[in-house]
Amino acid sequence: MELVDVERGLESRRIGVGGNLAESRVLLVGAGSLGSMVGLLLAQAGVGHFVVLDIDRLDAANLSRHACGLDDLGRSKAQAVAHLLTRRAVSAEANDLDLLTLSEADLDRLVGSVDLVVATTDSPAAQFTANESCVRAGRLGLFAGAYERAAGGEIIAYRPNSGPCLFCAVGFRVEVAPDVAPKERRQAYQDAQQHRMVAEPGLGVDLAFLASATAAIALSLLDPAGSRAGLIPAGCFLLLHGGSAPRESLADIFHHPFEALVARVSRNEACPVCGWHPTAGI
Ligand SMILES: [Zn+2]
Repeated sequence: MELVDVERGLESRRIGVGGNLAESRVLLVGAGSLGSMVGLLLAQAGVGHFVVLDIDRLDAANLSRHACGLDDLGRSKAQAVAHLLTRRAVSAEANDLDLLTLSEADLDRLVGSVDLVVATTDSPAAQFTANESCVRAGRLGLFAGAYERAAGGEIIAYRPNSGPCLFCAVGFRVEVAPDVAPKERRQAYQDAQQHRMVAEPGLGVDLAFLASATAAIALSLLDPAGSRAGLIPAGCFLLLHGGSAPRESLADIFHHPFEALVARVSRNEACPVCGWHPTAGI
């Protein structure tokens, strides 16, 4: 019989490839296909604590790309992903909750209890609401979403007190005037649901490319002095295309498979959410 020291074995493999992340806390807003993959990669990289937020349940259609499997069908995604993460010797707490039902104070308390929020839902209202909470609570935020058939996606990182935030980058999608009050803005986020990008079926192989990039950027945010520092230049966000030829509307942006484009955030006026301005900073 051989006693296995899991902690030591894991650490020996991670030495030199990541910082000391055992004390890091990550909130996963959304435990769908992308969120589950990113969470798993972060747990494997040594992030020690997770809170998983999602109200959906895992169904058969999810199996083509979700990190959880047959054993978890019918289970809440938050519970299933939290369980998946604990199998990598980390702590993970599940919350079967819709972020949009939380009061601002409760959401800010939850966001304030972690180092980084990784938001991967396909609900613009949830993404923008999480972004506002990151700004108020002064926490790192990472907002990732897939495009059509998961052929590509975008990744936007928010660093407290420096910007830009999610609203700076893609707030134009909400179609909201820059000077509206926070409460009205939240209604506009809800209305944006009608215009949201429809999540079309895609395979895990497509989504894994976006998940890997999202997880790498999460690690760079948690360990800014580490080897992954500066993956997204200041004032920019990332557009990615995975392992297929760009087609239809994506062919207007991308020209090759596996293409990563750095897009500069542009705004004419200070951001109503975080106050960032391309020239003046914050
Ligand atoms: Zn902003």
